[in-house]
Order: sequence, then C-alpha cells, then structure tokens
Amino acid sequence: MFKVLGVDHIGIAATDLKEVGAFWELLGLKSTGEETVTDQKVTTGFYPTPNGSEIELLVASAEGSPIEKFIEKNGGRGGIQHIALLVDDLEAALADLKAKGVRLIDEKPRKGAGGKMIAFLHPKATHGVLLELCQPIE
Ligand code: ZN
Repeated sequence: MFKVLGVDHIGIAATDLKEVGAFWELLGLKSTGEETVTDQKVTTGFYPTPNGSEIELLVASAEGSPIEKFIEKNGGRGGIQHIALLVDDLEAALADLKAKGVRLIDEKPRKGAGGKMIAFLHPKATHGVLLELCQPIE
C-alpha cells in the first residue's frame, strides 16, 4: 500500500522561463534555479510556496519535447501541463495502481527534477489529467 501525502507541485508549460517566472515573482515566489532533465527534454524552474507545494515551470530543452507539443496544442500558449502528488512509496504506488488496471506512462520510477523520483500516469486513466507521482530521493 501507499499513501498520497499531498500536492507536491503543479507543472506549468511555459514559452520562456524568465518571462513566465517574472509573473510568479510578482506573487512573492522565488526560483530555486533552473535544471535540465535531458531524457525528458525539459528545463524546469521551481517556485516553492511556504506550505511546501511548488510551482514547476517547464520549457522545452530539445526538439520533440512534451512541452513543445503541449504549447502547440494549446494555440502557442503555456498552461497547466500536469499535477504532481507526493507519495510515501512510489514503487508500491505503481505496482498497486497497475494491479488495479490503471494505465501508466512510466512502469518504473525515473529520475525527475528537484531531487525526486517520478512516474506519470496516463491521462486516459485519470479522466484527462496528466498526473505525476513523486517521492524524494533519499
Ligand atoms: Zn512535475
């Protein structure tokens, strides 16, 4: 069994990290820096809030990035791309959900940004939400 511990972050597709980040800074949030996750073809910027939830801005870092596709489908604009829930045991969560017939994008956890292991569930299984599950790397 596994437990959902809370909303970890909201992933927002952006056309430009600095330009979009400037908006979040108006709300008093500060970036913890940029990080490129090569195998996901994204560069991220995290803006933590005091309760631990974060805003994750994502820009495409290479051709064929899922962010590039999202922005294209969204008429050239950014927007909410995924929601991430923090879980206490990511491997157990994937095994449990798979056993319950939930369609997974990632059958195994992979390394994400921000020192976390992540896995995505398929939007068809979640009724339209691209859902990421994550767990900090110990
Ligand atoms: Zn994310």
